[in-house]
Amino acid sequence: MSNGDFVLKEKIAQIGKICNSLGTSEEIFLELTTPRVFKEKIRPIIKGKKSLIYPVWRVWHCNPYSTGADPHKGGFRYHPNVTEELMIVLAMGMTEKCAIADVEFGGAKGGIAINPADYTKTELRSITEETAKVFLKRGILHPDRDSFGPDVGTNSETMYWMYNKVADENDKYQLPNVTAVVTGKPVEHHGCPGRENATARGGLIVLKELIKISHCLPEKGATLAIQGFGNVGAHTAFLASDLTQFNFKVVAVSDVTSGIFNKNGLDFTSISTWHEKHKTFRGYKNAEEISNEDLLLLPVDVLIPAAIENQITSKNAEKIRAIVVEELANEGVTQEAHNILHRRGIPVIPGVAANSGGVVMSFEEWAINRGPRWHEVDLPKIYDSIEQKFAEIMRRVIIKVFEKSQKENWSLSDTAHFLAIEAVYKKLKQKHGYK
Ligand code: NAD
Repeated sequence: MSNGDFVLKEKIAQIGKICNSLGTSEEIFLELTTPRVFKEKIRPIIKGKKSLIYPVWRVWHCNPYSTGADPHKGGFRYHPNVTEELMIVLAMGMTEKCAIADVEFGGAKGGIAINPADYTKTELRSITEETAKVFLKRGILHPDRDSFGPDVGTNSETMYWMYNKVADENDKYQLPNVTAVVTGKPVEHHGCPGRENATARGGLIVLKELIKISHCLPEKGATLAIQGFGNVGAHTAFLASDLTQFNFKVVAVSDVTSGIFNKNGLDFTSISTWHEKHKTFRGYKNAEEISNEDLLLLPVDVLIPAAIENQITSKNAEKIRAIVVEELANEGVTQEAHNILHRRGIPVIPGVAANSGGVVMSFEEWAINRGPRWHEVDLPKIYDSIEQKFAEIMRRVIIKVFEKSQKENWSLSDTAHFLAIEAVYKKLKQKHGYK
């Protein structure tokens, strides 16, 4: 059985439990647990040839809005762990994330089981363009049906390749507002200022607010260990020490190859120069080398898994020494580990609340792309007003989760999933007339 199967069973059991306590009908439970899976084959140009076939997945989970007016939304990833089951679980998480932040999208996720490090840029572009073509042909990639975004192994450049291919092919399809088929695009290609680091920024706003309202840590100077140094992890590391906004101290960071630790704090200007050049932290002088496993067990104030799923599990949850855990990676903490950490009195801000900043900002990008022409928009002005709204949304998410968890004496994770499913349920009742 793959990792993905195991997580999917847990996820369905969690939804079932929440449906029971809400007293939903069987139809609602079925809608929440029956995703639509699109599996296609592509033949990109690899090593100059179009010989290999790659399976690609896109999963639509429940959309409590009307697909065709409000699309499904979710990341598209390139990582060897991609399986159909994992994509389903992550699509389910997207539905919840949108619901908890009041973003009018249904959940989606997709990807290809490849390690992008094994391919050249030209090959990755070919993989992305073939994906765009196949999902465009199926009527899936569409600004009002499904808008893709960056995720593990993909970034703003990948999103640009995808959008550009769709735009190229659009004579045939005549899609309206074609810029909105993907979000997370570079700002100069119809992207939105602030989207690139939105997941990290949102996570830090949520963390700061939780500390303020729960008094679990002093409001200034908490130490952070961050697993992952991609879009989410690296932006978190850079923004965390901003004295006016956050005032945290990052003492450890890792990527897939290794990690570094310095109890006095890490200097990310020199670290990122090193990392960009060597593609690893190994050999960096002003810190001690540690493994990914060691990073998770450091005695820090806040531990932030920001890499991939299944990092804090029943195997290491008893040994975690952080005071708070913030799950920025989707499914970074397994259900069993959530339960262990809750029993041990360690609050875990779950992914559906902690990392919803990415989709909140994606909504802004999608909405602007569907609205006035981008060149007529005053970017700095838009950015200022979106930024303020963004911070309010993120704070509102964690305040409502924290207050309900206190009232019910539930973990933050159980509470966030309950609130999310409850919000979806209310909308589905209106949509279908189910109980
Ligand atoms: P990324 O590909 O940019 O970075 C992933 C990082 O994790 C890299 O530094 C990589 O070296 C590291 N990594 C990979 N495998 C690892 C392993 N086995 N052990 C330790 N480190 C490992 O991806 P990202 O966009 O930063 O996404 C990270 C997480 O955040 C994912 O779970 C993703 O779904 C979630 N997320 C991302 C966004 C977004 O906007 N990019 C939004 C919401 C949630």
